[in-house]
Amino acid sequence: MEAKQYDVVIIGGGIIGLSAAMQLKAQAPRWRVAVLEKEAELSTHQTGHNSGVIHSGIYYRPGSHKANFCAGGARLLTQFCDENEIEYQRCGKTIVATTQDEVGRLQDLYQRGVANGVQGLEMMGPERLEEVEPHAAGVQALWSPQTGIIDYVKVSHAYAVRFQQAGGEIFTGAPVQRINRSGGGRSGGGLELETPGGALQAKHLINCAGLYADRVAQMLGERTDVQIIPFRGEYYTLKPESQHLVKGLIYPVPDPRFPFLGVHYTRHIHGPVEAGPNAVMALKREGYRKRDVDIGESWETVTFPGFWRMSRKHWKTGLGEMHRSYSKKVFVHDLQKLVPEIQEKDLGPGGSGVRAQAVARNGALLDDFSIIQGHDAIHVLNAPSPGATSSLAIGQHIVNLATQAFGVPAGG
Ligand SMILES: Cc1cc2nc3c(=O)[nH]c(=O)nc-3n(C[C@H](O)[C@H](O)[C@H](O)COP(=O)(O)OP(=O)(O)OC[C@H]3O[C@@H](n4cnc5c(N)ncnc54)[C@H](O)[C@@H]3O)c2cc1C
Repeated sequence: MEAKQYDVVIIGGGIIGLSAAMQLKAQAPRWRVAVLEKEAELSTHQTGHNSGVIHSGIYYRPGSHKANFCAGGARLLTQFCDENEIEYQRCGKTIVATTQDEVGRLQDLYQRGVANGVQGLEMMGPERLEEVEPHAAGVQALWSPQTGIIDYVKVSHAYAVRFQQAGGEIFTGAPVQRINRSGGGRSGGGLELETPGGALQAKHLINCAGLYADRVAQMLGERTDVQIIPFRGEYYTLKPESQHLVKGLIYPVPDPRFPFLGVHYTRHIHGPVEAGPNAVMALKREGYRKRDVDIGESWETVTFPGFWRMSRKHWKTGLGEMHRSYSKKVFVHDLQKLVPEIQEKDLGPGGSGVRAQAVARNGALLDDFSIIQGHDAIHVLNAPSPGATSSLAIGQHIVNLATQAFGVPAGG
């Protein structure tokens, strides 16, 4: 890697880093902007291991970043895909209340969705549900026709191509291991980013490091009060002969105490139907398999006070998730609540993803996107689902912050 001086370096070549890079370069074409990605390929972590859903914006508290970025982000995303010939499908989604207890929460979701400007929402009784998803069963359901499916790796690669066409540079296989402030102290001159291939100078930094965002913030001496705790989501795939049981996307009514949506059925843009993901704490940040353990990272988790506070609050749910992770029977039992015909024999092995979940020192699981700004750096500390749907809106927000904090020249 050449020892070049950049105006902005973005750490992390996932969908958020690449969206920010593309939009920053469009806003400030003369600025020298680079993306550093530690893996040999772009988008191999959360961006390459998600459910591939274009969320419509139903779930999120009005006024939150998620509410603001999701519905608008989905519009920007589909417009980008239309312009760049990237396939997506609006297959629609049903959220199913399987017991009377859940109906009140389902109605609250409908109200939230309306407040967030989601188009076409419809509350459905069992007969209408049968028309939309013939094999699903519930006492009431919410139909969201705008929800879609997409391949987010393709989207992120298109962001990368646009960024490079505008003169941006991407370095893969370039893990940032240390950051030094060359002028010394917090408010010193430029930044020196050390990678195994050599150092690189930057005036400003945007941290989009996903599962390692807290570590990168610490490299800059940022006191963030949060730590990323990795939660693995495991999927099964419906066998080809059983895929007719699901037309689009079938979700449960989520537990409002958690930022996860509950195990659901997702028709993938490339054909197969996936069932999952659950949410089990991983013993390694990039631990995609049960046997993946990193002693140092696990130690870091258990010595973080927020971990114990979180565990005290949610130990029952945590144990339930672990039980479901080890027992296909329990997984199937939960899936049967939505589609009673599903049997163990219908499910083949599937993949997994690891969510970068920021947890505060008081044990709270951060629900909203968290993007903080220092004078020479912006840190994306929490970008869970619907982060991929919202990637263009989040990227735009980052560029707006950069304009104020770094003095990005309009058209400069
Ligand atoms: C199981 C699961 C299901 C999901 N489903 C959906 C969904 O259906 N719809 C939706 O909208 N969202 C979904 N999401 C959320 C979505 O995938 C994320 O919000 C989004 O991918 C976050 O993108 P990112 O760029 O922040 O992170 P990532 O894609 O994880 O990218 C971060 C990058 O930073 C790199 N990096 C880390 N440290 C360094 C370093 N020191 N130096 C250089 N590079 C570094 C990593 O290698 C990685 O490539 C899901 C997430 C998961 C895990």
